[in-house]
Amino acid sequence: MKAFQVKAPHDYQVVEVEPPKAAAGEALVRVAFAGICGSDMHIIHGDNAFVRFPRITGHEFAGVVEAVGEGVTDVAVGARVCIDPVISCGNCYPCRIGRPNVCSSLEVIGVHRNGGFEEFVVVPADNVHHLPEHIGLDAAALVEPYTIAANVLDRMQPHPGDRLMILGAGVIGLTILQMALAKGIEEVIVTDVINERLAAAKQLGATQVLNSREQDVEKEVLTFTQGEGVPLIADAACVPALLPQMLRLASPAGRIGLLGFSAQPSELVQLEVIKKELTLVGSRLNNRQFPEVLKLMASGQLDPLALVSHRLPLNDMPSAIDMLDHRPEEARKVLIKIST
Ligand code: MN
Repeated sequence: MKAFQVKAPHDYQVVEVEPPKAAAGEALVRVAFAGICGSDMHIIHGDNAFVRFPRITGHEFAGVVEAVGEGVTDVAVGARVCIDPVISCGNCYPCRIGRPNVCSSLEVIGVHRNGGFEEFVVVPADNVHHLPEHIGLDAAALVEPYTIAANVLDRMQPHPGDRLMILGAGVIGLTILQMALAKGIEEVIVTDVINERLAAAKQLGATQVLNSREQDVEKEVLTFTQGEGVPLIADAACVPALLPQMLRLASPAGRIGLLGFSAQPSELVQLEVIKKELTLVGSRLNNRQFPEVLKLMASGQLDPLALVSHRLPLNDMPSAIDMLDHRPEEARKVLIKIST
């Protein structure tokens, strides 16, 4: 079967490999669609400290169950499914307090184990979610990015009436926007440096969009909030240098949700945090938010297909990577169509 394999940083190609087999407790899934994520790009460029090479990447995928291993009773052969990439131990401290997404021995499908950019993938049966009838396999490949949004919003604990500011209108910024609106947040400010992305944010319901290269974001946001600042700030730009601005723009008692995976330090002035009693939270992967996202998607409150810009065959992975590297303004979510 065909698979997209990263042998080492910057060394990747579509290769022919033996199809895997489902062992006890596992399901074999014929992958229909898999999305390319920024974190796949980090693996390809050698900027992910956790990955083990060689690796078949891809953690955003959906398909049809081809077979199940011994002891699997709750996953049906032939079922349309999507996969939660988070594998946790269930025994360590974070697992015991309900935070398996930061398990001490966390494994992520597509990072620590082979993922969705291949014709067949094996996954733990516990990570399989059956799709409601009217969610397509293309839309289902986007459930995972929405779980990222669900988790950062849960970590920030919105109160009714809270305004939200999202830095970055890439795919994750736009999933946070849609998820926030679906959860009843009414006013969302979105910033970016690419006007096409801001136009998408506006179209998807952002109250105000700001180009941070062309506009004075701090002045505009303080005017918009009558000097109060913003109670909720989600960082989907993931640029370490933006933290001081987030601290200045947060309202007193505000919560800042950080998603960046950079190893570069950010400047943090304690006075800014203490005088407003700010809460800074990290958000990693998802904490069992697949059922919630599937429910919102099935009820039409999320619009995953609005985020898809390309559908390409597996053989086009190298050219898709080239586009995402050099012409990111042309792409939103790039879906790789694998089985036909
Ligand atoms: Mn992702």
